[in-house]
Amino acid sequence: MGGGLIVHAQTQEQREIVALVREFVDREVIPQASAFDHDDVFPEPLVERMRELGLFGITIPEEHGGLGLDVTTYALVQAELSRGWMSLSGVLNTHLITARMIATRGTGEQRQRLLPRMATGEWRAAYSMTEPHAGSDVQAIRTTARRDGDDWVIDGQKMWVTNGLRSSLVCLLVRTDPEADPPHRGMTAFVVEKPAGAADVPGLTIAKLEKLGYKGVESTELAFDGFRTPASSVLGGEEGLGRGFAWFMEGIELGRINVAARGVGIATAALEASLRYARERETFGKPIAAHQAIQMKLADMATRIEAARMLMLSAAAKKDRGERVDLEAGMAKLFATETAQEAALEAMRIHGGYGYSPEFVVERLYRDAPVLVIGEGTNEIQRLLIARRLLERAEESDPGPEARGR
Ligand SMILES: Cc1cc2nc3c(=O)[nH]c(=O)nc-3n(C[C@H](O)[C@H](O)[C@H](O)COP(=O)(O)OP(=O)(O)OC[C@H]3O[C@@H](n4cnc5c(N)ncnc54)[C@H](O)[C@@H]3O)c2cc1C
Repeated sequence: MGGGLIVHAQTQEQREIVALVREFVDREVIPQASAFDHDDVFPEPLVERMRELGLFGITIPEEHGGLGLDVTTYALVQAELSRGWMSLSGVLNTHLITARMIATRGTGEQRQRLLPRMATGEWRAAYSMTEPHAGSDVQAIRTTARRDGDDWVIDGQKMWVTNGLRSSLVCLLVRTDPEADPPHRGMTAFVVEKPAGAADVPGLTIAKLEKLGYKGVESTELAFDGFRTPASSVLGGEEGLGRGFAWFMEGIELGRINVAARGVGIATAALEASLRYARERETFGKPIAAHQAIQMKLADMATRIEAARMLMLSAAAKKDRGERVDLEAGMAKLFATETAQEAALEAMRIHGGYGYSPEFVVERLYRDAPVLVIGEGTNEIQRLLIARRLLERAEESDPGPEARGR
């Protein structure tokens, strides 16, 4: 089934990289993923292989040492990785959102200083908006940065920061003008440097959070208390002051395509496991695949996965054309992640009691899928954004009652 992703690759270059990643997933990721997951260990050897494959630079422009590939290829690669283990996709996601923000919004000096080291994976990046009291309501964040001589001083608490510990860079949304009204006008993006792997540095403490699934890759809490960062870490320089909110929202479009791809990957893994098991397991003298009730489940899963894949590719293609893609990325994220959650549950039901056992992959898929409906904007928020955009479009194209008639 994962071969379907290669079919969707259009150019020779896309086909080659997707096939390479597919081989890596089949040979190296799938045999090891459950052990890393159950022990909740960061998959260092697999991440090293991802570096060798060039995945940390996949969308970084060639002039800065990356592969310079498009978002469509990126989405296909992310779906393949997630078919093996979603946590690997999480190691890349915040890194590549940050890289894209630096490439499109950073100063020339920031691009030259940061992107080459990011392209090789020597420096990895986290992406941090959420705070303990504010996730969906991003404008309610409280972390501040105030100017002090040549530095900025950061105070506040960030929550659920993926890759918060092992990253060398954190793309951070803070308030630089706490009096601004509306608040988003006083928000700025920083690209903060820190030593990778250190939990305690002057002004910054990092704690690992426990969670249901999505193991291996760390989720962290960052406590800033008088953390000093140079003025060169303001994304976009002086011109970036007050523009952080809009740039983070732009960055998250790529994140939503990534999460849609993860949904496609998890659902594909659930279907593959179900097809395997349904042909092996026998009840009442025949394989359960011969029972129509099971066939219905397989048919519904496969149909929804194909629809999710199409939405993901359509959003990615539009992003590649440089068009506004909030509606399409939102739809792809919403549908693909609900599909993943449903497919994981259906796969568990097809596996009967064994689906509840850590011996079978569906147990992990069932724990991993729910974070997709929460992260990168919950699916409730996606529905609000989709509806808002639809209404805006209807308003824009409405010629008025006289021209249109009733
Ligand atoms: C494992 C994991 C990794 C994460 N990684 C990152 C990361 O790297 N960087 C980062 O910045 N964040 C990260 N997050 C945070 C994630 O983006 C937030 O959890 C998410 O945006 C939801 O915010 P919240 O948890 O504060 O929920 P809340 O915003 O408090 O929402 C609670 C509930 O209310 C609903 N709700 C809220 N507002 C509305 C509304 N207006 N209308 C209808 N329903 C509404 C929500 O849909 C949800 O069901 C991560 C989260 C997890 C669990």
